[in-house]
Amino acid sequence: MKTDFNPADRIQDLQYFGEFGGVNPSISDSSTYTFLSAKTMFDTFEGNAEGCYLYSRHSSPSNLYLDKAMASMEGTEAANVAASGMGAITSTLLQLCGNGDHIVSSRTIYGGTYAFLKNFTPRFGIKTTFVDITRIEMVEAAITSETKVIYCETVSNPLLEVADIVALSKIAKQHGLKLVVDNTFSPMSVAPVKLGADIVIHSLTKYINGSSDTVGGVTCASREFIDSLKNVNNGASMLLGPTMDSFRSASIMKNLRTLHIRMKQHSHNAMYLAQQFEKAGLKTVYPGLKSHPSHETYASMINPEYGFGGMMTVDVGSLDKANDLMELMQQRNLGYLAVSLGFYKTLFSAPGTSTSSEIPLEEQKEMGLSDGLIRFSIGLDNDIERTYLMMRECMEETGVLDKSLSEA
Ligand SMILES: *Cc1c(COP(=O)(O)O)cnc(C)c1O
Repeated sequence: MKTDFNPADRIQDLQYFGEFGGVNPSISDSSTYTFLSAKTMFDTFEGNAEGCYLYSRHSSPSNLYLDKAMASMEGTEAANVAASGMGAITSTLLQLCGNGDHIVSSRTIYGGTYAFLKNFTPRFGIKTTFVDITRIEMVEAAITSETKVIYCETVSNPLLEVADIVALSKIAKQHGLKLVVDNTFSPMSVAPVKLGADIVIHSLTKYINGSSDTVGGVTCASREFIDSLKNVNNGASMLLGPTMDSFRSASIMKNLRTLHIRMKQHSHNAMYLAQQFEKAGLKTVYPGLKSHPSHETYASMINPEYGFGGMMTVDVGSLDKANDLMELMQQRNLGYLAVSLGFYKTLFSAPGTSTSSEIPLEEQKEMGLSDGLIRFSIGLDNDIERTYLMMRECMEETGVLDKSLSEA
């Protein structure tokens, strides 16, 4: 289901002027705003005064610029930025669900989201059933009369399972549910709302900002839903207060301008490495590889210009080998042993002992998250062949690859 929708064109078409004609919009450096008349203040509180600002927990000019850019990128009516990805996820889900409600969620999701649904939301009487999101019949079987939301990631962390958003949105519509998709791993490549999702969330911390200098998040949805999040009486964003600072939204806005170029290079580099690693006999998971179980599904969802993304995993057999390899690669300046993703440099970590450590060991095993798994966020390296050769040397030195075999 391809569309003509191109997120990069939509971002390019935004035109913002700074207060003094600057080419970058001015940063709003105020928490509160004056009103020339008391009547306008009342209207603003009631949500009826277009272009008037109230208080920066509600909205600020800088945040509205980024909101608008994110809504343009995802093709939604509106958006609301948050201080972190978790700030966006938690307030969105708490806005959609309350006491007695039920969520059907993918079981392979970001560790923090998993912990929130498993350990935290039950306090509010919200129950979650975790399912294998690639098995549509299991998703449907988990729906009850209390279900309000289907939750998934376009490409899941860390196992890179792909959610069939078109199929999931059909089920969601049939049962009157909201399909909420975390699109953090695949900005530009996938536009979930164009495929039928109702709400899209990003951790801006990753590709969208791309410089690993801040956390941030966003919810992209209908005007009605975004207004409900910001409602002064019952809006989760307004009342819980995960507000992004104006300086940060201004800096993320500037980085967003190069996202399309970065995504192409991340995807190009990851595809090259995945193909080479697979050829060398390593157990490699990358949605761009034909061997990936959801390759076809993913290929049908993406805008091919931006490729299959920069995330891949390699199973090197054991945690010890994984640690040796990661330490050596860091020593040779091939990247950093660090969590997170979307940086200009390659980042690697062992998810079982880091980002997914919230998931109990037995559950990790069941979902195929093995000890020796290394998650790579492939960087923007200019010469990826050179990088591959250097990585391969590290793999041979740590016994991950057999030198004699690779030379044969
Ligand atoms: C990092 C991440 C989050 C959480 O975002 P923060 O900005 O760290 O709060 C949520 N979902 C995915 C897929 C992520 O990678």
